[in-house]
Amino acid sequence: MNLAAFKVHVVEDEIEIRELMSLHLSRQGYHVTESGSSEEALDKMKTHKFDLLILDWMLPGMSGVEFLDRLKTHSTQSRVLMVTAKSEPQDIVFGLEKGADDYLTKPFDPSVFLARVKVLLRRSGQQETVAQNIFDIDGLKINFDTYEVSLKGQPLHLTPSEYKLLAILIQHQGRVLTRDQLIERVQGEGISVTGRTVDTHIFGLRKKLAEWADHVDTIRGIGYRYKSDVNLPS
Ligand code: CA
Repeated sequence: MNLAAFKVHVVEDEIEIRELMSLHLSRQGYHVTESGSSEEALDKMKTHKFDLLILDWMLPGMSGVEFLDRLKTHSTQSRVLMVTAKSEPQDIVFGLEKGADDYLTKPFDPSVFLARVKVLLRRSGQQETVAQNIFDIDGLKINFDTYEVSLKGQPLHLTPSEYKLLAILIQHQGRVLTRDQLIERVQGEGISVTGRTVDTHIFGLRKKLAEWADHVDTIRGIGYRYKSDVNLPS
């Protein structure tokens, strides 16, 4: 994947942090631009397309969260990595539910920052693959048309709720989904899921996935995500 092809826009009012993030990103070969406020970033988005926005929460004027609200009215394909000094689970859940794809709390380690960026960009690069109706990675295969799931060629018998949860996590792979977001997406089609049962269904799902269970990552106090980078049995 040609990293230089990715356009990353840093929205951060603290100059030192902004320059530091830009420096780390540029060294990776990304095309980096910056804004010191939400207003400035929105203005640039009228004429520029960004693959990823690094978005500070606490900004003068329009906050990062208000910016996310504004983004919804734009038909943007940009991924959003929220960077925040807020580290309470309820703040993070709030940010994710507002539409951030992932979050990072300040102060952060540059290597963790770059790893998060890479995952989000890889996912945006994978959009076309994910849009196809068959997911087939590391021996885990899902046919979204026929609802068939198999592991290394062996059919996996999932309950409708387990299937739905797995499919949703995979369709948003890399992204943390809160319990409420999962419930919202799983609900309907004859399936009733509540906060408590999400955990039970995930437990059942992980059990059936056996050695592949580590792909379904628990984010304590927040929710779950499908992680593509795990050490699998060979
Ligand atoms: Ca700030």
